[in-house]
Amino acid sequence: MQSNSPIRETQAGPAARRVSVPVKVGSVTVGGGAPVVVQSMTNTDTADIDATVAQVSALARAGSEIVRITVDRDESAAAVPRIRERLERIGVHVPLVGDFHYIGHKLLTDHPACAEALEKYRINPGNVGFRDKRDRQFSEIIEIALKHDKPVRIGVNWGSLDQELLTHLMDENAASPAPVSAAAVMREAIVRSGLLSAARAEELGMGRDKIILSAKVSQVQDLIAVYADLAARCDYALHLGLTEAGMGTKGIVASAASMGILLQQGIGDTIRVSLTPEPGGDRTREVQVAQELLQVMGFRAFIPVVAACPGCGRTTSTVFQELARDIQDDIRRSMPVWREKYPGVEALNVAVMGCIVNGPGESKFADIGISLPGTGEAPSAPVFVDGKKVATLRGAGIAEEFKVMVDEYIRNRFGGERSAAE
Ligand code: SF4
Repeated sequence: MQSNSPIRETQAGPAARRVSVPVKVGSVTVGGGAPVVVQSMTNTDTADIDATVAQVSALARAGSEIVRITVDRDESAAAVPRIRERLERIGVHVPLVGDFHYIGHKLLTDHPACAEALEKYRINPGNVGFRDKRDRQFSEIIEIALKHDKPVRIGVNWGSLDQELLTHLMDENAASPAPVSAAAVMREAIVRSGLLSAARAEELGMGRDKIILSAKVSQVQDLIAVYADLAARCDYALHLGLTEAGMGTKGIVASAASMGILLQQGIGDTIRVSLTPEPGGDRTREVQVAQELLQVMGFRAFIPVVAACPGCGRTTSTVFQELARDIQDDIRRSMPVWREKYPGVEALNVAVMGCIVNGPGESKFADIGISLPGTGEAPSAPVFVDGKKVATLRGAGIAEEFKVMVDEYIRNRFGGERSAAE
């Protein structure tokens, strides 16, 4: 029985961050201890300049710090510099990354303005070229990157894994006196494909400060194993992502579980959440999920947090659910303006609680919180600001009055009014 043992020091927090070589992607630093960067990818046809500008702009405004676009043919390569120009004109300076497969060497050679407008090139070693063409085409892309002083991401994906390398490792394993599982050989092939390509880029003159690696798979446990291995075998900056994460809650949970564990182990310099949007759905959802993952784990703050209880049999009405949702929606809508107007507002904590059991305690802990009345409680709602009860709201206007108080709190604390008054 340990219940009367002395209080012990306990630790909460991630492992020390893995040391990686920092890479500049335009104005953004990836790795070297810089805050973990959120990135995303468009799903428009890049040759459709209007649609691509609109989506890059939406992703950037949602908080994506790097945006990748598909460059799959001459029309899309020709569109890239025009997309860049249009984005600059509307004040969107987010770095653009070109996603190249099969003919990247040709597109970058034939469209030097595209090569210049992009801030990074993504190369997939599994499809950069086959047999004797592989090294030549890979070298061409690296040489163009060197000429334009751009970094590359060597992005291995298990769905397009270098089959020659995989076959070679499978044969080697079969001949080994102590063969490992086929799954372990596959993971080794993924890791080795990235490391061999990065080593080749270095041989061609590229510095480690120009190379980011990724090794994406679609299963959570495989992703954790692959990145743990990759992290131990190199000091390149690492881009994390669970490929083909899927739709809706499954994609969110699988991405958060796998990347959350890796981030907790100190692994990962930039993340992308590869969600499949619903038809006609909002592409910016993947940015929101990436930000929330980093924020709930305490790595970065992007937007004020609303803590709300789940509600239970003590909850008298849906008022507190509606209030929690309205506050959250108001915050999300207001953030683009608040970010400029109220520096530091992203660190705000708001609590919306359903009854007296945990309500006052959680509300006191928040910067501003309200405890709504539960079943059988007096129809009043205490409001706490910075841990002190400052008001008791009553009647039908509780929700509206609380929203006004939150707005006032933000203005006073982050708008400089309180410090000017003090
Ligand atoms: S705070 Fe009250 S209403 Fe909310 S879950 Fe706990 S007991 Fe239920």
